[in-house]
Amino acid sequence: MTQNPGRRLLLRSALTLAAAPALLPRLGRAQAPTGPFTLAPLPYAADANEKAIDARTMEIHHNFHHRAYVNNLNAAITRVPALANQPLEVILARLQEVPEDLRGVVRNNAGGHANHMMFWEIMGGRGGQPGGELMAAITRDLEGWDAFRTRFERAAMTQFGSGWAFVTVARDGKLAVVQRPNQDTPLMEGGRVLMGNDVWEHAYYLRYQNRRADYVRAWWDVLDWPKIEARYAAAKAGTLTI
Ligand code: MN
Repeated sequence: MTQNPGRRLLLRSALTLAAAPALLPRLGRAQAPTGPFTLAPLPYAADANEKAIDARTMEIHHNFHHRAYVNNLNAAITRVPALANQPLEVILARLQEVPEDLRGVVRNNAGGHANHMMFWEIMGGRGGQPGGELMAAITRDLEGWDAFRTRFERAAMTQFGSGWAFVTVARDGKLAVVQRPNQDTPLMEGGRVLMGNDVWEHAYYLRYQNRRADYVRAWWDVLDWPKIEARYAAAKAGTLTI
């Protein structure tokens, strides 16, 4: 069968997109994926975040920890017909509809899946600072860059045990720094997450052991601010999902 090269290229692009859900958030995807859920490959090489996170930690974190959240979520959500085919952010916002005997496992694993998709997406960059509207919002809502970093690092450091530090973004663009335990996420309250750092020990223990502060400080060096700026724009447009 012959095809003209342009058409072949177009087909290949469509197939690549279909096979790479991790790329979709950059395109301003309006809906999060629906169950049963899949684990997308990391959007970069495992050593892409070496300045802050070693390749072995990235591999274990993605291929075992994140994969377990996906598998456990799929096993549980198929037992909740009302939500089984809903987008992930809808499941997270409607946990009260999950029968009580399944609610804990759905909460932990749907939260884990959403949190880690966001986490992989916003890394792989060169650190530095954001520009444009996002930097203006940090200045307006969080007292400027230095105060923001200090506040975020404090949230990450003072989260007792396992959990996350997040920056949330309201529809009007207003930013806030929050912390949540376990795999909880502001998505569970209908909020939106601009960015977040995983402070479970599995995120840093191989290189940093008990030194969470060193990990939290190094993490800024691998952020991809253009991607976080795109999430900010999507949040204001109402298209940011997870
Ligand atoms: Mn994790």
